Amino acid sequence: MSGTQPVIVLDRVCKNFGAFRALTNVSLSVSKGEKLVVCGPSGSGKSTMIRCINRLEEHDGGRIIVNGHELTKDSRNIDAVRREVGMVFQNFNLFPHLTVIKNLMLAPRLVRHKNKDEARAVAMKYLERVRIPNQADKYPSQLSGGQQQRVAIARALCMNPEIMLFDEPTSALDPEMIAEVLDVMTDLAREGMTMVCVTHEMGFARSVADKIVFMDAGEIVEAATPEAFFTKPQTERARQFLSQIL
Ligand code: ADP
Ligand code: MG
Repeated sequence: MSGTQPVIVLDRVCKNFGAFRALTNVSLSVSKGEKLVVCGPSGSGKSTMIRCINRLEEHDGGRIIVNGHELTKDSRNIDAVRREVGMVFQNFNLFPHLTVIKNLMLAPRLVRHKNKDEARAVAMKYLERVRIPNQADKYPSQLSGGQQQRVAIARALCMNPEIMLFDEPTSALDPEMIAEVLDVMTDLAREGMTMVCVTHEMGFARSVADKIVFMDAGEIVEAATPEAFFTKPQTERARQFLSQIL
C-alpha cells in the first residue's frame, strides 16, 4: 500500500527542554500508507519526536511538514494537522467521566459539528471495528486495559484521520492484553493507514513495519527495513538494545 508521496517530513528537527537537548537533527519521511516503527531505549526522545508531529511539543529547530502543512506558530496549520492526525497514548487518556460512546462522540460533535445521530453511528461503527460494541455504555474504569486502549484507538478513528500516531500503546497493558491491541493495529495497517508507532513489540514491527527507526540520545542512529535491522544492526548501540529486548 505504500506510495511515494511523503505525508510526514521531519528535516533536521531539534528540540530542547531548557538546557537539555532532547532531539538533535532528526530527519525522516513517511510516505502515504507507510508504517514506521520507532524504537530505542527509554529517554532516547521517541515520545518527544512523535509528539512534535502533532504539535503536542513545539520543535526549536528544523522543519516538520505533515500532510502538506508546515508546523509553525501559525495556529491554522496546527489545527489542520490535529484534525488529520490521530494519536494513541500509553495510558489511553480517555475521559473518565464520560461513557465509552460519549468519549467517541465528543470530538466529532465539537470539531466536525456532526449531529448526535451521525456521531453515534460513526462511534458504533468503530467500536465494532475494535470488537467491543457491547461496551458502549460503560465508563472507562469498568473496562480492562486492553479494552480501554481499543476504545482510544476507536476514538481516534472517529475523526477519520489520515495518519495515526501510537506512543507505546501496549506498554501499560498486562501481557495477556497486548495481542488484542496489536491485532487492531495490524488490521488498521492492512487497510492502508499511514502509521508511526513507537513500540518495543518486535513481532509487530517485523510483520507490519515498512521501516524501523532506532533512536538513542535524541538522534536517529539507524533507519532500516525490519529485516535489515533485526538481522544486521549497524551500530553497537542498536545491537545492545536488541540484545536486551529480544
Ligand atoms: P522516550 O519516549 O524515548 O522514553 P522522551 O521523548 O520521553 O523519551 O524523553 C527524552 C528526554 O527528554 C528524556 O531525557 C526526558 O527526561 C526529557 N524530557 C521529555 N519531556 C520533557 C519535559 N517536558 N521537560 C523536560 N525534559 C523532558
Ligand atoms: Mg516515551
